[in-house]
Order: sequence, then C-alpha cells, then structure tokens
Amino acid sequence: MLKIKFETLKHEQKIKIYETLDWKEIEFEGNIYPYSMPVKVDLNVELSLGRMYVQGSVKTQIIHPCDRCLELVKVDINGNVETVYIPNGKVKEVEEVTDEIGTFYYDPYMEFLDLTDRVIEAIILEIPMKVLCKSDCKGLCPHCGINLNEHPDHVCDQSQETQEKNESESPFYVLKKKISFESKGE
Ligand SMILES: [Zn+2]
Ligand SMILES: [Zn+2]
Repeated sequence: MLKIKFETLKHEQKIKIYETLDWKEIEFEGNIYPYSMPVKVDLNVELSLGRMYVQGSVKTQIIHPCDRCLELVKVDINGNVETVYIPNGKVKEVEEVTDEIGTFYYDPYMEFLDLTDRVIEAIILEIPMKVLCKSDCKGLCPHCGINLNEHPDHVCDQSQETQEKNESESPFYVLKKKISFESKGE
C-alpha cells in the first residue's frame, strides 16, 4: 500500500514504506511498457513543522523495444522520489506547486496521503529517450524489414518501388482498400 493514513503520520512523525508491487505495465506518451520485475519501493516519510518530506528509491525493470531493430530489451529502472508537501487549506487533497519540481500543497485535513503518482513519476523519469539492444545494433533493412543483426550480409533485392508494387498486389492490401471504401460509403 502506498497510502498513508495522515493521522498515523501525525502520531509517528516518521514512517517507512517498503513495498514490492506486482504492477503489470506503465503507460508513457501513448506507449505501454510491461514490467519484467516487481516494483520495489523504499520510501521514508517524515512530518516536520507541518511539512511532509518523502524521499527514497523505486527500482524495477521494464521491457522496451530497441529503437533500431524493435527487439525487446529489458531496461533497469533506478528512480528516486524527492518530494515536499506543504500544508495549504485551500487545496483539495494534493496539488502540484507550479514551477517547483517535486513540491506539492496538501490539504491538512485530508485522511490519506497516496504516493502512487510519485512512484509512477519516478519510474517515468528513468525511461531512457533511446533504447538499443546493443550499441552497434544494425537495425532493420529499410526496404524489406529484415533484421540486419541476424543477417549481417543481407543485400536487398527489393527497391522501394518493387516493395510498394508487391504490397498493392497482395490480397491483404486489396482487402484493406475494400474495407476502407466500404466504411467510407456508410
Ligand atoms: Zn536493436
Ligand atoms: Zn532488405
């Protein structure tokens, strides 16, 4: 559980959260990446002069396609949570403070503090911009799509034109055209 009862925190002042979560997948910029390991969360929550400080680590592994050859790669995620919550009677539950990364207002009368979003943000920050199965990945043949790591001596006999011609002759292409024509007619 990534939810803390605020009453408990007021009483204890310091709470440690150590959780292993069996999450299935994470969505980021329209892409879905499955987890290949549970999400391990290790957080310290401290209340001091009304402010809540949340610090700790988020470790997991996601499956991400290679940007060149689309082979699936396991990517280690070592994220950090570093957040301050400032009491503010005008907000409902929790609200991010504009222009201040990792700073939030919280309603001092709220019942629970839910840290799920902080954990998800820590993972998303660690998803690399570029993922390669290996640094010298040769990618796919731009004409026929064959994996050039598996076929390093591939010499393509399909130019762009013949590929398009082949596609237009294939029964699936004809079917696709037919479907789009019919759906337009409706
Ligand atoms: Zn690759
Ligand atoms: Zn080729």
